[in-house]
Amino acid sequence: MKRAKQKKDVTIGFVALGCPKNTVDSERMLAEIVQAGFLLAAEPERADVVVINTCGFIEPAKIESLEAIEQAVANKKMGNVRKVVVTGCLSQRLGEPLLHEAEGVDAIVDLEHRDAIVQVIRDVLASEETVVLHGPTPCTVADDRVRLRIGPAHSAYLRISEGCNHRCSFCTIPAIRGPFRSKPLEMVLEEARELVASGAVELNLIGQDTTQYGKDLKFKDGLACLLREMESIRDLSWIRLLYAYPTGLSDELIQAVSQSSKAVRYLDIPMQHASDRVLKAMRRPDTKDALYRLVERLRHAMSDIVLRTTVIVGFPGETQGDFNELIEFIRRAQFDALGAFTYFPEAGTPAAEMPDQVPDEVKQARFDELMLAQQEIAFAKNRERIGGRLACLVDSCDRAPGRRGKRRSRACGQGRYYGQAPDIDSICLIEGCSARSGQFVNVQVVGTRDYDLLVEQI
Ligand code: SF4
Repeated sequence: MKRAKQKKDVTIGFVALGCPKNTVDSERMLAEIVQAGFLLAAEPERADVVVINTCGFIEPAKIESLEAIEQAVANKKMGNVRKVVVTGCLSQRLGEPLLHEAEGVDAIVDLEHRDAIVQVIRDVLASEETVVLHGPTPCTVADDRVRLRIGPAHSAYLRISEGCNHRCSFCTIPAIRGPFRSKPLEMVLEEARELVASGAVELNLIGQDTTQYGKDLKFKDGLACLLREMESIRDLSWIRLLYAYPTGLSDELIQAVSQSSKAVRYLDIPMQHASDRVLKAMRRPDTKDALYRLVERLRHAMSDIVLRTTVIVGFPGETQGDFNELIEFIRRAQFDALGAFTYFPEAGTPAAEMPDQVPDEVKQARFDELMLAQQEIAFAKNRERIGGRLACLVDSCDRAPGRRGKRRSRACGQGRYYGQAPDIDSICLIEGCSARSGQFVNVQVVGTRDYDLLVEQI
C-alpha cells in the first residue's frame, strides 16, 4: 500500500469498535487514511484527528461508543486532539442529533459515506464548520477491497453481504444497515484472493445472514456456489461460515459444507430462543422442533460438526416456563458453544413497545442459569476431546524466558482447531509450539483449562 506525501505529517488516531462487520469498515477506512498520506497515531489520546468507528446495535455497545466519543472530546478540550470524527453504526442510527448528545464532535459520517473519510478529515482540518454526511439507511454494496488489516494477517473477515430483510422484533440492524444486498460473486472472490495473497489462510464469511447470499442476485443456492468457487483459491485452508440463519440452511448448503475440503465443519447459527411462543413474538419463523431437527440434520450430515448458537434471555413476555424450555433445548441440543445476551429494549423496535418487559434481575438470573448449564456441556465436550489429535492453526507463539542458568522453557503457543472461531470461541493452549502464527501444527489434546483445550504439538 503506497502512502501519499502530506505537506506536514498529520496524525490520525483510530478507535475501532463493534462487530466483525464494523472491523471490515474500519480496515477499509484505515487503508484510505494511510494511502492519503496521513500517519496513524500510536495513541488516539494524542492525535490531530481522532476517528471513532462506532457500534450502535444494542444499548451496551451504544454506551461504549458514547464513552469513546466523550473521551476524545475531553482530549480535544485539553488540547491533545484537534478534531473528532464519528463514523459507523451510531452515526447512522442517530445522525445529526448525535452532535447534541456528544458536544464537541466535528463530523458525523454515516455508513454510506465511509469511503469519504479522507475528504472529511481534510474538511474538518481546514475549517471550523461541522461536517454532517448523513442520509437514509444504506442501500448500495460497499467495495471492501484494499484494507489495512487490524487483526492477524493469517485470519480475516470476508463480508459477503450487507443489510438484512428479516424483521426480528428486537433488532435494529435493518434500520441501521438497510435492506439485504449481496456483493457480486466476482467482487467477493477478488477480495478473498487479495486477503489470501496478503497472508490469510482462514477466511471467516460474515453478513447479517450469510445463508441468504446471492438471493437478490437471482442465484440458486448462492452460498453453496460461493463455497465451491472459493475451493479453488490456492493457499486458502479454512473457510468458516458465521451468522447462518437457521431457516437458510438448506440441504444443498449443508451438502456443500460437508463436501468442501476448505469449509470447516463449524457453523454459527443464531437461534435466539427455543420456546415457540417467544420465537413467534421475536418474529422468527422457526419452531423448537424445527430447530432441533436442524441440529439433527447437521450432525447426521457431519458427525464432527461443531455448532455454536446465540440466544437472548428475558425477551418481553418470556415466562419461567419459556425459559425452562430454552434450558431444556440447550441441554438436548448439546451445542459446543453458546453466546447469550440479556434482552435490551431498543428504541424503534416493536419489542421495545411490548408489554410484560422482564425485570432486569430476572433477566440476569436467567442468563446466569443458562450460562452455567452451557458450561457443564462445554466442559464435558472438552473432556471428551482429551487424547484426541487435531490440526491447529497457530495464532501466536511465545518462548517463555527461562530463568538464569536454567534451560529455556518450552515455547507456548495459542491457536485454534477448526471448531474454534477467532475472537468468539475458546482457544487451544499449545505446549511445545515450534511454529509461527499462521502455520498449522498437529497437536494432541492433553487436558483442559476452563473453556480452553491444553494441547501438545506432536
Ligand atoms: S436476522 Fe439478525 S440482523 Fe436480521 S433482523 Fe434478525 S437479528 Fe437482526
